[in-house]
Amino acid sequence: MLSVAFLGLGAIGRPMARRIAGAGFPLTVWNRTSARASAFGHDVGVKTAPTAAEAVKNADVVVTCLSTSADVEQVMEGALSGMRDGSTLLDCTSGDPATSRRIAERAAAKKIGFVDAPVSGGVRGAEEGTLTVMCGGDARDLARVRPVIEAFGKKIVHCGPVGAGDAVKAMNQALLALTIWGTGEALVALAKSGVSPQVALEVINASSGRSNASMNLFPERVLNRAFPRTFRLALLDKDARIAAQIARDERVPAPLTQLAADLCTLSRKELGEEADHVEAVKVIEQWAGAEIK
Ligand code: NDP
Repeated sequence: MLSVAFLGLGAIGRPMARRIAGAGFPLTVWNRTSARASAFGHDVGVKTAPTAAEAVKNADVVVTCLSTSADVEQVMEGALSGMRDGSTLLDCTSGDPATSRRIAERAAAKKIGFVDAPVSGGVRGAEEGTLTVMCGGDARDLARVRPVIEAFGKKIVHCGPVGAGDAVKAMNQALLALTIWGTGEALVALAKSGVSPQVALEVINASSGRSNASMNLFPERVLNRAFPRTFRLALLDKDARIAAQIARDERVPAPLTQLAADLCTLSRKELGEEADHVEAVKVIEQWAGAEIK
């Protein structure tokens, strides 16, 4: 059985690590804020390490799930040299392709494989082990870590070389931002014109304007004003900005992708670092002076 180190017990890292432990892999966890790691270790019954370097030293697979690729680069700067020859770094952060390629090069120089493997499906998908996992890297590296990915992922897709998983994830996130914002605008305008959001969603969800936002996020989070905090708006902002950068790098005119990034940045400034991504609709509501409910 592959031994696993998991670095980063945030909102989605915790349920992913729990699935890995549940699948029987010997697991050691580390988190920057050590209280989170101790609570997790106690709860799930796995080993905790005081430093990232300590966590990775006997692992066949090191999973990172941090906020940004820059965080992964920073943490692995100290920890990479302690990883075993022939082991693999499986980075589940929604990262940026250029930084992932740089980390992969450093890893390769130490005979360590690298796979970028961002996930989609949210905290619930992680708890249920039904995440979509988009992977970039060498096919042999992916084959080696696939059993670990299968502990939390259902649809596992090899997208291309290192960075390809990050790129697909970033574009997916720009689309998510656009559908949240667009559905918010539509429902606020309809509410002001006298159509209830429930009725509007009943129609849209049986019509061509439907999306994950209209089918799941708005009914489960907006209409009931619950706005649970599962995925920070700050992280969606980071993702949409990566998407806009990829479009610029590839010289693809992408005004909507850029707009998605700008709207995320604007809402993030308005609502703060801890706001959930769906709370962005509150900005539209404030502008319009009307609520979706
Ligand atoms: P959180 O904000 O909940 O947690 C971030 C984690 O990264 C924490 O463990 C935090 O440690 C750690 N971290 C951040 N910066 C550093 C650093 N410089 N050094 C060491 N550790 C650091 O994020 P999520 O768990 O929600 O997201 C993690 C990744 O997964 C992100 O890239 C996100 O975009 C992606 N993702 C999240 C989803 C979700 O539904 N939440 C869905 C799909 C992808 P500490 O506890 O000390 O703050």
